[in-house]
Amino acid sequence: MKLSRILSNQNGISRRDANRLLASGRIYVDGGVCRDGTSDISRFREVRIDNDILQRAEPAYYLMLHKPAGYLSATTDPVHPTVLDLIDERLRPHLHIGGRLDRASTGLLILSSDGQWSRRLTEPRIKIPKVYRVTTEWPVTKEAVERFAEGIWFAYEGLTTSPAKLEQLGEFEARVTIYEGRYHQVKRMFRAVGNRVTSLHRERMGDLVLGTDLAPGQYRPLTRDEIDSVT
Ligand code: URA
Repeated sequence: MKLSRILSNQNGISRRDANRLLASGRIYVDGGVCRDGTSDISRFREVRIDNDILQRAEPAYYLMLHKPAGYLSATTDPVHPTVLDLIDERLRPHLHIGGRLDRASTGLLILSSDGQWSRRLTEPRIKIPKVYRVTTEWPVTKEAVERFAEGIWFAYEGLTTSPAKLEQLGEFEARVTIYEGRYHQVKRMFRAVGNRVTSLHRERMGDLVLGTDLAPGQYRPLTRDEIDSVT
């Protein structure tokens, strides 16, 4: 929300007084003077007039989870355990999932209380690369490599996927890089070239890399650099 709106709408300060307070350097955002009423201030930042708090900073959580197989990428489910069951109970109500994985899929899953930030991970326009390691039922062919690079027609959405990179790692094993996060995208791309994915593991989303430090089911907070890498 714009800083001027936080001052006027949420705290009943007249526009004129808000402009005066801004100009005289009495408005602080996260402890620093801010004179620009047009600045976009998220709910995770603290706003003060002198020493009086106008907006308390909500805690922001940015987590990387090593998703095990068998867990749903959902917040609740009546039947299956969800990825939130793996997270500290106190954080659960705040978290959104940035880029789901199917129940049987494993690997890097990002959870955050900052929905605007986590949506960027899958926003097709932003084109953050998502890297998956897959095993397949039938051999990975050169033709599939070319079809992935051209983009695959998804009739249901009426669109062609962005060019994707398919690297053959073995006869039945490949690494795939895609730039969107469409429903069952990798599996549907393989199906479109006459193959079938038998296992799928996400290794990376942009600069967020699942390291060997996390065993399946474990998670850790992202570092400041990792958070800032998603722009
Ligand atoms: N594509 C899929 O088909 N499944 C996933 O879990 C992630 C990407």
